[in-house]
Amino acid sequence: MTKRATLPRAQRTRIDRPRADVLICGASFAGLAVARELTGSGADVLLVDRYEIGERQTSACAAPTPWLHAIGVQGSICQEIPCMSFHTPHGSVRYRLPWSWSSFDYPELCRLLFEQCDARFEIAKVQGRGPGGTVSSDRGDLDAELIVDALGWRRVLAADGYQPPDSPLSRGLEVHPPGGGSDLDVWIDRSLVRFGYSWSVPAEGEQRVGVGSYEPRHHVKDATVELAGRLDVPAVAYQGNWFPHRLRQAAEDGVFYAGDSAGHCFPLSGEGIRTAFYFGIACGRELRAVIGGEQEREQALRRYARFSAGHARAFGLALALQRLIPALPPRLLTLALRAFGRQPLIDRSFGWYLDQAHPSFVRATADQAATGAAEAGACGQALSHSLP
Ligand SMILES: Cc1cc2nc3c(=O)[nH]c(=O)nc-3n(C[C@H](O)[C@H](O)[C@H](O)COP(=O)(O)OP(=O)(O)OC[C@H]3O[C@@H](n4cnc5c(N)ncnc54)[C@H](O)[C@@H]3O)c2cc1C
Repeated sequence: MTKRATLPRAQRTRIDRPRADVLICGASFAGLAVARELTGSGADVLLVDRYEIGERQTSACAAPTPWLHAIGVQGSICQEIPCMSFHTPHGSVRYRLPWSWSSFDYPELCRLLFEQCDARFEIAKVQGRGPGGTVSSDRGDLDAELIVDALGWRRVLAADGYQPPDSPLSRGLEVHPPGGGSDLDVWIDRSLVRFGYSWSVPAEGEQRVGVGSYEPRHHVKDATVELAGRLDVPAVAYQGNWFPHRLRQAAEDGVFYAGDSAGHCFPLSGEGIRTAFYFGIACGRELRAVIGGEQEREQALRRYARFSAGHARAFGLALALQRLIPALPPRLLTLALRAFGRQPLIDRSFGWYLDQAHPSFVRATADQAATGAAEAGACGQALSHSLP
């Protein structure tokens, strides 16, 4: 059972220094990426989360291996996964990707990210915007000139947070039994989930087996238990959450949103860790330029919003596929998966997919963006979004 490191009520005293230069709400993938980008900036960065850092895993925790290396958390890798297998009731295909996935240990990844930050951390539950643009929490009002909401799909600091199931959210549930495997297995099987897919992610002695539904009204618990039964593993150690499938305004009412709070989770695949890193870094760069006196906060808000919106085409395409695939007759889908299985096609399409939030972005500097010296390809393309 997960040990809860949340502060007991008696210890929920007011935070000593509630004012900072930068306040980052949420200390998971996106929040830690923002904080990491601010390291050495000289700013007083306050990072808050309702749980201890790394305490609450909410995903299968697989990400492209090159990203985990680029961001310096390769020590958290459990297992590298070079191939994906797709299964329908009419057959299976196996793709060797031009890059690999890796499953990782969530607490360790968070620890390694936080180690790279010079932010101070406090456990506090954020409740929303307080008086005069502050942030209210169960440990008093917090304030900063630069405020980031990296709180996940609830977008707590916005006036219009989502309320499931009437929102563009998908729902996911998984179990973590002991087990193994070599591939990232994906089932597109309507007997399990009508609009969505199921997965099994090997993690060195553990198997992360789950079901995601693009239709938020459809429950996924029975399907998860059914899949675990089919794979002959026990349905134990549950975890689940909602995840967004539509981009939202990345800056609003003076607040920067990064990760799921801005809808930075790819539709179709439901992959949101890499993008939380990517947009978190982009956000951190804009904040850093404010701290360094190179731009005003309003300009940073505009530039970051534009950078995020510049990815609308890729997110829109993924959403169109998310709608199309469940509408295809299963036999046709199986044929399409087979036809798609030629190596040059796999290399091109998965290469394109990685390019949408490429790991070279970690090392690209604002200067490179400004001079256009960034390498060609998606990274250069992405950086150009951030130019004024
Ligand atoms: C079952 C499942 C499996 C998934 N598997 C994968 C996968 O394998 N790979 C992948 O790329 N994506 C996966 N995803 C999607 C991925 O988990 C999210 O896109 C990703 O976690 C987004 O990161 P984030 O930092 O924006 O938000 P989160 O990871 O949701 O972090 C939000 C943080 O804010 C904190 N918080 C929330 N509310 C408050 C509050 N009121 N006060 C204080 N703190 C608060 C939380 O404690 C948390 O630390 C999966 C999702 C689900 C549901």
